[in-house]
Amino acid sequence: MTTDALLAVDGLVAGYGAAPVLHAVDLTVAPGTIVAVVGANGAGKTTLLRALSGMLRPSDGRITLAGEDLRGVPVEQLVRRGMAHVPEGRGVVGELTVDENLRLGGLWRRDRADAARALDEVYQLFPPLARRRRHLGHQLSGGERQMLALGRALVGRPRLLLLDEPSLGLAPRVVAQTMALLRRLRDDTGLTVFLVEQNVRSALRIADQGVVMALGRVVTTAPAARLRDDAELRHAYLGF
Ligand code: ATP
Repeated sequence: MTTDALLAVDGLVAGYGAAPVLHAVDLTVAPGTIVAVVGANGAGKTTLLRALSGMLRPSDGRITLAGEDLRGVPVEQLVRRGMAHVPEGRGVVGELTVDENLRLGGLWRRDRADAARALDEVYQLFPPLARRRRHLGHQLSGGERQMLALGRALVGRPRLLLLDEPSLGLAPRVVAQTMALLRRLRDDTGLTVFLVEQNVRSALRIADQGVVMALGRVVTTAPAARLRDDAELRHAYLGF
């Protein structure tokens, strides 16, 4: 394990009942990189994100963010420490406007001036949200809801963005735009992204590193380009 990792996971065991879903997962995420977690349905990818973001309490193992142990740290504290989780299904509040949803992402911040700046930046990043700022969450299209969920996370100026299936239900053009945006954020702001994705090709195209999971374990970690080019590995674990 490298000491300069932004996120380090060591021997993580977690699940929903007596039988664990994750069996001693080890991985590291270097700052300013995009890491894509890929693998078959049921491999444990979503469970891993839930354990990282504090939604699920691990039964064993260690998670550190910038060297700080996250054991027992409440979810709202994780956000303050720079971790933002955009869950599958996105969690947009349908009864609130776009603007209110975005402001939720910065409510906890003490630096009100910077929270306002971050909000403006998100509107610049996503012009459709600026146009629909008074619309309610449930009036948005799938692509717009995805933008809103991402935007809300970005208003908190995270160091580490945990994304679960950002391409789910989106048209191919919107998937491509989302992926390009993640790369731009990494390049321009040094954002670190930990991405779970069924759309393996798209994810490995933008990622620096790929983590392949099967049956609750990490079976391999490699530069994304190598995973893309390794036909044997792709056939064995990724189905293409
Ligand atoms: P998918 O892409 O299908 O979501 P995944 O790799 O994200 O797959 P998980 O959703 O983490 O996998 O599921 C891993 C295992 O945990 C599966 O066997 C699943 O049935 C089980 N599981 C997931 N969520 C729950 C839950 N809330 N309660 C009990 N078991 C669960």
